[in-house]
Amino acid sequence: MIDTHMHGDARSSEDFQKMYLAGIDTAITCAFYPYTLFNEHVLLNHLNRILEYDTKRAKEYGLELKVALGIHPANSYIKPDLIYENINKWIEEEKIIAIGEIGLEDCNKEEIDIFKEQLKIADSSKTKIIIHTPRENKKETVLRIKEIVSENINPKLVVIDHVNLNIIDEVIDEDYTLGLTVQPQKMEVKEAIEILDNYGFDKFLLNSDISNKPSDPLSVPKTVRELTKLNYNKKKIEKVAFKNAKKFFNI
Ligand SMILES: [Zn+2]
Repeated sequence: MIDTHMHGDARSSEDFQKMYLAGIDTAITCAFYPYTLFNEHVLLNHLNRILEYDTKRAKEYGLELKVALGIHPANSYIKPDLIYENINKWIEEEKIIAIGEIGLEDCNKEEIDIFKEQLKIADSSKTKIIIHTPRENKKETVLRIKEIVSENINPKLVVIDHVNLNIIDEVIDEDYTLGLTVQPQKMEVKEAIEILDNYGFDKFLLNSDISNKPSDPLSVPKTVRELTKLNYNKKKIEKVAFKNAKKFFNI
C-alpha cells in the first residue's frame, strides 16, 4: 500500500513501524512547518530535515518515504526566493517526487503569489504537485484554486487533496487526480468508501495526512481492508491502495 500524503517529521518511529507492519510499503511525506517561522532559513532547515533525516528514520523500520517539498500556504510569511532556488535544485537532482503540499488557506496576497510561483516551477519542469484544500471555506477556496491552476499549470500534473462530499462535484470532471484523506475529525472510512462507490476508483489516492494534529497512521490500511471486507473488486481496490499513486507519481 501507499499512503500518499503524510508528515513524517511530526511522527514517531513507532508509527513508521506500525504502518509498515500493516502493509504500507511507501508513504509520501509532505512539507508543513507547524511552528513560528522567523525567516526562510528556518523553513529551509525543516525541508532539509525531511529530505535527509526523516527518510532515513522511516527506512530503519522498513517504510520508504518519498518526498514532496514546497511552501505550505500557512508558511507563506517568508521571503520565498531561497526556497524556490532549492525546489529547482531538488527537482533537478530528482530528490523530490512532487512539490507539496502547497495551496491556499486564507487566500491572501502572500499565499496567492507563492502558490502561483510554485505552480509555474512545477509546470515548466513537469513536476507533480499536491494541493492542500482547507477545512474552513472549503468550496470557495477550491473554486479560487481551480481558477489559479487553470492559468498556471497542466491539470494532469495536479493532485487536489482532502477532497470530500462538499467539493467533489467541483473537481470530479477535471483532469486532476484526487486525494481522499481519511483522518479523525476530517473524514471517516465510511465517507471515503461512499465517494469511491459513487465516483469510481480511477481518479483517487488514499492518505492519512498524519501530522501533529489528531491522526490515525493506519487509516489507509483500515480503508483498504474495509473495502476487501465489503467484497469490492480486487482490481478496483488495488487502484486506490497503490496502483493510481504508482502511475501518477511514477514511483
Ligand atoms: Zn498535510
